[in-house]
Amino acid sequence: MQKMLTFVFVALLAAAAAGAALLFLSDGQPPALTLTPASGPVGKATEFTLEAADPSGVRAVIVSLRTASGSTVLASQDFDKLPSASLTFTLGETKAPEGPIEIVASAVDGSIRNLGKGNAGETVFSMTMDTRAPHVSVLSGQHNLTRGGVGCISYTLNEDVRRSGVRVGPHFFPGYRLPGGNYACLFAFPYNMTPAEFSPRLEAEDLAGNRREQTFPFHVNDRTFRADVLEIPDSFLDAKMPQYEADYPEASTPLEIYLKVNTEMRARDDAAILELGQTSVSEPLWRGEFLRLPNSAPRAGFADARTYRYKGETVDNQTHLGVDLASLQAAPVPAANAGVVVRTGFHGIYGENIMIDHGLGLMTIYSHLSQIDVEPGATVARGQIIGRTGATGLAGGDHLHYGVYVSGVAVNPIEWWDPSWIKNNVADRVGHTE
Ligand SMILES: [Zn+2]
Repeated sequence: MQKMLTFVFVALLAAAAAGAALLFLSDGQPPALTLTPASGPVGKATEFTLEAADPSGVRAVIVSLRTASGSTVLASQDFDKLPSASLTFTLGETKAPEGPIEIVASAVDGSIRNLGKGNAGETVFSMTMDTRAPHVSVLSGQHNLTRGGVGCISYTLNEDVRRSGVRVGPHFFPGYRLPGGNYACLFAFPYNMTPAEFSPRLEAEDLAGNRREQTFPFHVNDRTFRADVLEIPDSFLDAKMPQYEADYPEASTPLEIYLKVNTEMRARDDAAILELGQTSVSEPLWRGEFLRLPNSAPRAGFADARTYRYKGETVDNQTHLGVDLASLQAAPVPAANAGVVVRTGFHGIYGENIMIDHGLGLMTIYSHLSQIDVEPGATVARGQIIGRTGATGLAGGDHLHYGVYVSGVAVNPIEWWDPSWIKNNVADRVGHTE
């Protein structure tokens, strides 16, 4: 029995060795070649990756540019018969003409075929060389912005682009292609930027990576925001901090928890909104002015500079990025305009909240709610009741914290309550002609 098992084992080994030898002899195919990108418009900055794979291993890879005037080697590398190899390259300063070009990729495998030289093969990839930056034509005339507010620019492009939009300091506001073919871009004059610092630039990058950047006429109005002092009583800390204890186990007093929540958690919450604001529906779902919580009194304004005091001492400073509106307890909250719900649930300082995407990067938030009546993904109509006011999260009493964002940057909600502001600055630029 023992001998029999040994025999079987040896026979299996022999079969495996023969199989390996057979693979070397039977592999009559050159390496499989995959190029990314493999077609379409490309430019001098386009980064190509060539992948070669072969069961006998890859021995060498060469990439050339072939045009009517000849062939130029772009990159080449020898490999130690790796099962797969990759090579990255660009067209760089090679003199590729505008228009059709061919990239020829060749590779040799590690088999012993062809007197030991291996199988060689080549693949030709046809693409279009494009070194010209897209041409941008601005259609909208006046771009009047007030600090903390919004502008809308409308433009056309002479070719398809990877992205276009307006850059303002650290922020990029993407433009969206409307059904008619024009582009519209909502961009902010951030509340924390001075008129001297505000210099928006219109950018476009085509599919080949060519970039255009240009200025456009605009006019800005400065404005000041209110300053507010908030006393933090122990009763508030005792009532509100237990919900955040688990987030900051190292904090030893309710005030320490509060300061963590008001700084770290606030920054994290606003970063999450900025992230959420990067993806939006590419058409304006809203129509007309935005609704305000009915029968409500303003309790705090947009960009109020808040000084927080505890037992007479200043302990923190923050900016209030929405408006606080107080009505009856658990008042029904209407969606300010039509859109798609993109977020619901408890999020840090905002407590139970809803975010609605109105398209083109424009979003609204409804926070400190006591009840949420919608789910993410739901389409809501202007005025549809989506929840009820409350005091969840970092709120002292029942109210609605309402905020408006453009590509995740907080802007003054007041403009969107004003039908004539919308008519003069936005409506026709997004295709809303009444
Ligand atoms: Zn608020």
